[in-house]
Amino acid sequence: MTKLRLAIVGAGPAGIYAADILMKSERAFDVSIDLFDRLPAPYGLVRYGVAPDHPRIKGIINALREVLDRGDIRIFGGVDFGTDITIDDLREHYHAVIFTTGAIRDADLEIPGIDLDGSYGAADFVNWFDGHPDVPREWPLEAKEIAVIGNGNVALDVARMLAKHADDLLPTEIPDNVYRGLKASPVTDVHVFGRRGPMQVKFTPLELRELGEQHDVDMVLHDEDFDYDEASKNAIATNKQVMVIDRILGKWRKEAEEERTPASRRLHLHFYAKPVEVVGEDGKVVGFRYERTRPDGQGGVEGTGEIRELPIQAIYRAVGYFGSPLQGIPFDEHRGVIPNIEGRVQQEDESSPGQFNEQLPGVYASGWIKRGPVGLIGATKSDAMETVQHLIRDQAHWWTPAHPEEQAVVDLLDSRGVRYTDLAGWQRLDAHEIALGAEQERARVKVVPRDEMVEISRGEA
Ligand SMILES: Cc1cc2nc3c(=O)[nH]c(=O)nc-3n(C[C@H](O)[C@H](O)[C@H](O)COP(=O)(O)OP(=O)(O)OC[C@H]3O[C@@H](n4cnc5c(N)ncnc54)[C@H](O)[C@@H]3O)c2cc1C
Repeated sequence: MTKLRLAIVGAGPAGIYAADILMKSERAFDVSIDLFDRLPAPYGLVRYGVAPDHPRIKGIINALREVLDRGDIRIFGGVDFGTDITIDDLREHYHAVIFTTGAIRDADLEIPGIDLDGSYGAADFVNWFDGHPDVPREWPLEAKEIAVIGNGNVALDVARMLAKHADDLLPTEIPDNVYRGLKASPVTDVHVFGRRGPMQVKFTPLELRELGEQHDVDMVLHDEDFDYDEASKNAIATNKQVMVIDRILGKWRKEAEEERTPASRRLHLHFYAKPVEVVGEDGKVVGFRYERTRPDGQGGVEGTGEIRELPIQAIYRAVGYFGSPLQGIPFDEHRGVIPNIEGRVQQEDESSPGQFNEQLPGVYASGWIKRGPVGLIGATKSDAMETVQHLIRDQAHWWTPAHPEEQAVVDLLDSRGVRYTDLAGWQRLDAHEIALGAEQERARVKVVPRDEMVEISRGEA
């Protein structure tokens, strides 16, 4: 029976689901899968994106872990595609590759002052609070008043993590340096800005509701944002999700009228606010200028010309993630994805530059690098299903590797001195983190430095 040797690059949910689906699929050939990731630990953004105070979502790792623990998929952590292994290497050792490299950097927001000291991308902050090994350990948390730009779930994660009292994060898996950094933060006010109205937000009700459940943090809303136009009223009447969002915001507005002891921190939601400029002084952020917008009658907004300014000392843009190009693989610079049709990677048509409509044999994509950085973890499963089905059907177009033997790629990595980690290594690191957590009556304490992760995984610590 033919044996498909498949490389999957990216051990986030998209990569693990693709491997699992292929293993369980009906097919006329055997399969042997190698899963590569540049990080010493698997699970991608579930480990390094999902906020630590979302244990239910972090729990998806348990399902992904069960797939890896079966032991029928080899994993190679700490192997960077483009540095440690190239597309030519993959062609020599495999019949096909699926890229599931996700999206890890912030999309740009082109307004004056965005590069000032005190202006940050959400992805960088998320990497820090989730203990990503390749970012600095320290994060500058000196601002009392902070703006967060964006009206999606990542903006809410960032605002919540900034406003939350560090002690309320102690039961979670936050690394020690993150706890210490947040504990010393002098923040009093976090302002979230959205360009559109409260009924046009991109965040989901569950994540919104959570904002109001924080201890010693008051929610602040502004009456002027709640004079609903017809499109908003219609959205409330016809869309259950919007109806729930309306209810949550309405409840907070009512609560704000009641007499209570004021909290020491506030989380403000501002709608109809289009970013205009990050205001600076001596190279540092001192304010945020925005234009008040209004509904345009068609579900969108238009500028009113009224410019407002709020004093702040730090600003975070949470306006979306963006994929990164991979060496030797087609890339759509506008969308930040690998160009593909249902997961089959397309190369640029030489006669019409910018048009990607010629299938690149043997190369597939899944997850955020296929679809763009939108959608929950569950969506990467259906994504993987589609890609894997095409891979199976394309058997006649797979590559013909010179060295498909399983040992050959191990020898290649060894000959290059790549200090990769494997499944047993991940299990060692996992057990180590859980043991560290147990000492402090916490579920886990993450190991952050890359060298330490590798040493523990390889049994060298
Ligand atoms: C801040 C944030 C919070 C989120 N919260 C939630 C939530 O609460 N609930 C929910 O359902 N979804 C949430 N999501 C969405 C969820 O994380 C994504 O849907 C999912 O992770 C996408 O999976 P993926 O496998 O495509 O990419 P990723 O999870 O990004 O995995 C990609 C993997 O590829 C690896 N990689 C990248 N480049 C290379 C390379 N050159 N060589 C080798 N390996 C490479 C990376 O290290 C990574 O491990 C959140 C996303 C973010 C950004």
